[in-house]
Parts: sequence; C-alpha cells; structure tokens
Amino acid sequence: MRIPNIIAWVRRLVWLGLIAFALLVGYAWLQPGREDLPWTPLALTDPIGMATRSKIVDLTGERDQCLALLDSSGLQFTPREPFGADQCRVEDAVRADAGQTLLPLAPASVAPSCPMAIGLLLWQAQVVQPQAQALLGSKVTNIETFGSYSCRRMYAREDGPWSEHATADALDVSGFVLADGRRISVLKDWPGDGDKARFLRAVRNGACDLFSTTLSPDYNAAHADHLHLDLADRGTMSWRACR
Ligand SMILES: [Zn+2]
Repeated sequence: MRIPNIIAWVRRLVWLGLIAFALLVGYAWLQPGREDLPWTPLALTDPIGMATRSKIVDLTGERDQCLALLDSSGLQFTPREPFGADQCRVEDAVRADAGQTLLPLAPASVAPSCPMAIGLLLWQAQVVQPQAQALLGSKVTNIETFGSYSCRRMYAREDGPWSEHATADALDVSGFVLADGRRISVLKDWPGDGDKARFLRAVRNGACDLFSTTLSPDYNAAHADHLHLDLADRGTMSWRACR
C-alpha cells in the first residue's frame, strides 16, 4: 500500500472515531443514567446520582441558569434583590412562597441561595418524603430551620475561613413537622434508635449525596441540635464532608 493511501485511511478512522464519540455523548445526554455523568445538565426529575452534587455546586454564581431551573420545578418563589458586601455578598437568594408544599421551610422568611434551594428541593422530594413515609408513615409538612444567611466566619470566630452561611449557601435544619402533627427534633430525637432517630439518620445520609458538607450531631457538640448542609466548592467532585 502506498503511503498517501495509509494517511487517507488513518484520516477516515479518526473521523469515524470522532463521530462515534459525538454519538455516544449525545446518547448519554438524553438517556437515563445521566445523573451519573458530570457533563450533562441537571434535571430535577432525574434520580439522585453520582454527579448530582457537583452539578448543584456548579450552579453557584450562575444566577439566571439556576433561577430558570428552579422555575421549571413548579416551585412558587420570590428571588431576593442582591444584598450584602464583600464576603457576605448574596446575589441569588430565593424565598419559597408561604403556602406552597414543594419546599416547606420554616420560618417562611428563610432565604437560601438558589443552588441551595435546588438541593433542598431534591432532598425533600427524593429523600425526606420517601423516608418519612417509609419510617414514620406520614408526610413532612414543615422543615424547621435555624436559618440560612449569616455574615460570619466559621463557628463565628474572629478569623479563619468564612462560613458558607455568609453567602446563604448553607442551611441549618433543626427538625421536621409531620402531617399527623408529630414533631421530630434533631436535638431530642437524634439519640437512640427509635423510628424518629432512624428517620433523622436516613435524611442525613441522603443529604450527603446532594450537599458538599453535611454535619450532624455525630460530628460535634456544636451540631447537637441541627443538621448543617452547605455547598462549599472544594474543586473536585468527589470531595465531601459527611459526618
Ligand atoms: Zn450551619
């Protein structure tokens, strides 16, 4: 075979390879299983997968994209005007409207960042409600919180890294209220191995697949009365704190 012929064949093979790769990417984009593929877009109807957490973190700083995704969920919410300065600047806080059931945060005034709201929507729909039904036989009507935004460094120290609360990319969950009137309190119900304790551990474990930081009473005394959830960007998709 002459040399120019070989070059032509190599060219054809390279092109075939590229086309096959493009078809594969297109297939992955559209097919079930994309929740495990980091380069595909996040859809709120997808099950929670290996890449879901990094896709939520990647919404940080993408205000328009995030608000459009939140809108597609059917959640009624009000975006807040940007506020704060420097490390405590918040561009993308949202408040879920009172009376809606998709994201029943209490108090209703709590306004986490849009990416946090996306993570919380997935958490409530695919973790909190199914676990409440399975372990407690009822529906969660309120997720009680100690709040989201707080302009401070971690553990309110004088120096050191800034808290994710400073940009509303965090939420402290203190308990849950069920449709049948029962209350589950992180402080009171975490100890032991009753149904309420099992529910709290299950929702903590489920949060670890959605948030880059999930801290519970298992971590330290500072978290005895709440689950701390946040979206710290640690650069790589696999690095998470789950305690
Ligand atoms: Zn916190």
